[in-house]
Amino acid sequence: MSLITGTTKLLGVIGDPVKHSLSPLMHNRAIEELGLDYIYLPLPVTQGNLAKAIAGFEAISLVGFNITIPHKQAIIPYLAEVTPTVHMVGAVNTVWRTETGWKGTNTDVAGFIAPLQTLNQDWSKIAPVILGNGGAARAVVIGLVELGCPQIHVVGRNQNKLDKFSQSWQSNFQISSILQTHLWEKLNTLIPDTKLLVNTTPVGMSPQIENSPVDASLMAKLSPGAIAYDLIYTPNPTKFLQLAKEQGAIAIDGLEMLVQQGAAALKIWLNQPVPIETMRESLRVYLNL
Ligand code: NAP
Repeated sequence: MSLITGTTKLLGVIGDPVKHSLSPLMHNRAIEELGLDYIYLPLPVTQGNLAKAIAGFEAISLVGFNITIPHKQAIIPYLAEVTPTVHMVGAVNTVWRTETGWKGTNTDVAGFIAPLQTLNQDWSKIAPVILGNGGAARAVVIGLVELGCPQIHVVGRNQNKLDKFSQSWQSNFQISSILQTHLWEKLNTLIPDTKLLVNTTPVGMSPQIENSPVDASLMAKLSPGAIAYDLIYTPNPTKFLQLAKEQGAIAIDGLEMLVQQGAAALKIWLNQPVPIETMRESLRVYLNL
């Protein structure tokens, strides 16, 4: 790593916890390859300390930062401007300094669709099924709308939360007119008909690696050649993707989304192209993939 001096510009990720974040690794490797005088730091900020942290970032002229749980929504009032993507997703994962104050966007949408865009598919004929209705599911919905999917099914385990999820899109006709929510039991009939099944739940994440949000008998209904996309990147592959591959599905894990959302953020901060392959490789080596 290059020498840190008084001129080194600061980037980082705020959240609680941030100690397991892979972002410092991939960003610092990219910065090193570009030979730039920047450093990206994990910055633990607890829930009650967000205002103080933002004031501190102002004071030390931080160039920009990523935001993770629990600040993705809470950060919004501190920003002078947000992109239209933030208005739709309702959460920010990337912030940078402008002349008028901090500006925020959400690069998870671009990160999510990047691996799908490498596939040769007619998205206007695909009605995806999304498992889960949390924060990541919102970015997934926007991404699938951007791809041109004509109908989107969101499946959850709690009717109240599903209703709130539906209501949150009501002011957006383009989305509300194509979005349908269902309880988990409906998967029996949704899975055989879909060509894209996306897991946005944390089920199957380390250390619960034997769990899958869709069990073997349900996964057996997935049509061969369908795409199974798990946002989880460790373990790799997840049980969900193992079961899908046994059905002849195309499997996409969450690593590429992680890399691509990070690359999109770094590009904003540095205002130049970034070495995506280096970022990807740094994570692959670290995760033993
Ligand atoms: P979140 O806001 O907490 O949402 C999680 C969703 O999963 C909720 O709808 C929750 O249902 C559902 N869920 C949790 N446990 C479940 C279970 N046992 N059975 C069925 N549904 C269950 O979390 P998030 O921020 O959306 O993140 C979700 C996952 O995506 C995490 O694994 C995260 O690491 C991953 N992710 C990956 C990337 C990437 O770059 N690869 C980016 C973002 C997120 P209830 O609402 O009913 O509790």
